[in-house]
Amino acid sequence: MADDEYPIVDAADGDRPDAADKLGDGTYVRFCEGLAVLVEGNRVIMTGGLRRQMFTGRDACRVAAELVPVLDGRRTAAEAYAASGMQQEAAKQAILIFRSLGLVEYADRPFRDDGRLTSHVSTFLSRAAHAAGTYRNSQDSRDALATSALLVLAPAPVAKPLQADLLACGIGSVVIGNAAEVAATRAAITAMARWPHHLVIGVEDLAARAAFTGTETACRDRAVPLLRAARAGTRAELGPLFLGGHTACSACFNRDHAEYFAGRSGETALPDDADTCALDEAFAAMIAEEALAVLGHIRTPQSYRSVTFTSLSDYSDQRLTVLPWPDCPACGALSPGED
Ligand SMILES: [Zn+2]
Repeated sequence: MADDEYPIVDAADGDRPDAADKLGDGTYVRFCEGLAVLVEGNRVIMTGGLRRQMFTGRDACRVAAELVPVLDGRRTAAEAYAASGMQQEAAKQAILIFRSLGLVEYADRPFRDDGRLTSHVSTFLSRAAHAAGTYRNSQDSRDALATSALLVLAPAPVAKPLQADLLACGIGSVVIGNAAEVAATRAAITAMARWPHHLVIGVEDLAARAAFTGTETACRDRAVPLLRAARAGTRAELGPLFLGGHTACSACFNRDHAEYFAGRSGETALPDDADTCALDEAFAAMIAEEALAVLGHIRTPQSYRSVTFTSLSDYSDQRLTVLPWPDCPACGALSPGED
């Protein structure tokens, strides 16, 4: 695995390249998609981003009326300054402020619309992707998603909505498999490892855990990350994310898992009721969001070295940290805290 392929820790540390924030005359600037700009008296309110922003004064109103409309991503900064009719220094200052507030995206090439994405996905990425720090803008984020391959090993009621969600988010390839078919699963993992970005999602059958262990070994051998999920009645489990050589193996996780539940023998999840479809869809949505965090770097994945147990009846959750056991032969010299 390339060092920079899953810079989860880097993104969490805010270790972004300095060049990404440079505003040059040739930088293409786009006011993020889906933001609303309201002018009321001498106040300007910009809403829909990470935070609602309010500016006051005539200059702010002028920026909203003259500069914001020309920050369309098809003009360079120099062209936008000229088109706005504002003084260059004032216009530049306004863009720098917008950038610090996460209201604009920068690029070295003109932004283009992506017809493959539904508008709410494109809007979400425009507002969120560049703020996460891994990709410079939503365009780069979309390109990374389009060159990502996913293998989903899950029963059809979970796999189908998950596949639909992930394809709608612009993931290049989403293939459904069955972990019990060992040879086919290994072949699929090998094939997807050739894609620039890749991830296996394994929904573990808690009544037959050997298949998942086999999948984890196959992923570790090929340096393919594996996101685990499981559901028992109304209890959903999300994580851990297995990254061979960086995280605990499935045997270590199984020991943690058994120990965790040994101390909670009195607690049981509610069994499935007649409406398992709603539970499966809620479960699939949770997995899709986490997969997007891992592949799209929208946020730091919650499943990195941990599993979250969520009640699908009241959405309360508990988190268990998963670390290698010192005596594990597979994890070898991995020790807690080592990156
Ligand atoms: Zn281990």
